[in-house]
Amino acid sequence: MSQNQKALFIIFGGTGDLAYRKLYPALYKLYKNNYLNENFAVIGTARREWTDEYYQNIILDSIDSIKTSEQEAKAFAGHFRYQSHNVNDTDNYHTLKKLADQLDEEYQINGNRIFYLSMSPNLFGTIAAHLRGENLVNENGFNRLIIEKPFGTNFNDSNDLNNDILQSFDEEQIYRIDHYLGKDMIQSLLSLKFANPTFKHLWNKDFISNMQVTLAEDIGVEERGGYYDTSGALRDMIQNHVLQIVSFLFMDEPASSQSDDIAVEKVKALKNLQLITPENIDDKFIRGQYTTSEEEPSVLDYRSEPNIEADSTTETFVAGKVESLDKNWEGVPIYIRSGKRMKDKETRIDIVFKNEPSNLYEADELSENILTLHVGSNQGISLQINNKVVGHNFDIVPTSLDYKMNEQTPDDYEKLLLNALQGNKASFVYWEEVAYSWKYIDAIREAWDADSSNLLLYPVNTNGPKEAFDLLEQDGNYWVW
Ligand code: NAD
Repeated sequence: MSQNQKALFIIFGGTGDLAYRKLYPALYKLYKNNYLNENFAVIGTARREWTDEYYQNIILDSIDSIKTSEQEAKAFAGHFRYQSHNVNDTDNYHTLKKLADQLDEEYQINGNRIFYLSMSPNLFGTIAAHLRGENLVNENGFNRLIIEKPFGTNFNDSNDLNNDILQSFDEEQIYRIDHYLGKDMIQSLLSLKFANPTFKHLWNKDFISNMQVTLAEDIGVEERGGYYDTSGALRDMIQNHVLQIVSFLFMDEPASSQSDDIAVEKVKALKNLQLITPENIDDKFIRGQYTTSEEEPSVLDYRSEPNIEADSTTETFVAGKVESLDKNWEGVPIYIRSGKRMKDKETRIDIVFKNEPSNLYEADELSENILTLHVGSNQGISLQINNKVVGHNFDIVPTSLDYKMNEQTPDDYEKLLLNALQGNKASFVYWEEVAYSWKYIDAIREAWDADSSNLLLYPVNTNGPKEAFDLLEQDGNYWVW
């Protein structure tokens, strides 16, 4: 069967950072690998007045470091057109429709359309309504709407946003991106849990002591200050990426590999999260903000970064203990942690198994079995076991069995765009997942907003406030990393 996909992409926000850094290179790689061939075209739209030629040069620039040949890059860029477009202006959609229909015919696309909204979510509703109202949604082929995070700032406004979009597109046509779902190691959670009897049977409260999710960044807010100061780590990282990982860790085996069945189990896991209350928040969640360190005097504290309020109480670090109401997970917390300006950049998931008494070994000789998924640049899986030392005696040492993913893996966006082309929603976020994630986050946000006295400062280049370590110690646990 031919891998060649037919689609017209209409990218709203075509002059933006995400389109340049991620979407164009991802499309080029799909082209290079023959998933896109001759039957595709891309219309970039945004407010700027660009010509097709100027736009095509931007495309060439964005793929310069990955292009196979000048000729191939030029042939690829030839599929791109630009339209200056104000998303609130109905006339602009008429021009867009004409161009879309013309490209559809020129490249024999059979009416398939992917609308990619790479711009501020407060414009999603109006764009969706115009796409439907001005007949850009095509009756002949498929119509898919890809939207970027942040999907609202709390449950109520994300619900409004969703209802707005649902006026024009069905849930089945909406592809909500969380680019973490395009990462191999996150996708591996399904196969690890459900393709291996060893882990499948151990993945419960009888054998797992706790699970840990760490998304640590070593950079600060950089030029995103204006956005970040209104968002903070809770909304920017925990609501989406971290809770998506939590849903995979707590989920039961889906009825099939169909995306709808996978979503059913993820939704159930998120719905079962025990909500935080103002009474218990200080025992379960801590928040911090980075400040200067004597060792690194040249690194700015958060409040001195550009576009940040001088008295900002926005958190740049969150650590928490996430628990499930599901009886199968009683007593098994998932400790989560994400922060900026931490000591090292690291993204990992650690599953800490329970130790068992042994007739052969003293309890203090045995370390826990720990399964680690390295999600960041050093992608791979490791399993810590207790092993006999090499040689004459029988002492035990913790030994790591390591699998490093050496092969070149496709970029997150490349995989997700291909999934969208193929109509596979398994790596996209369903509305109910968004809804239950926000309900969990809103409870924390409300408790924090009512009392800012628990904001802790942590020096840059550390792994967060001491209290993030106490959180585990009080349960007799420790951060593996
Ligand atoms: P950006 O500010 O660089 O680009 C925004 C684009 O929207 C520009 O092309 C601009 O011209 C266009 N635009 C804004 N208002 C418009 C209007 N009224 N009419 C027509 N065009 C208009 O933003 P970005 O970094 O590319 O991000 C786009 C979206 O993706 C945002 O929602 C952002 O939160 C999300 N996102 C971005 C990244 C990233 O790495 N950049 C990562 C995750 C999510």
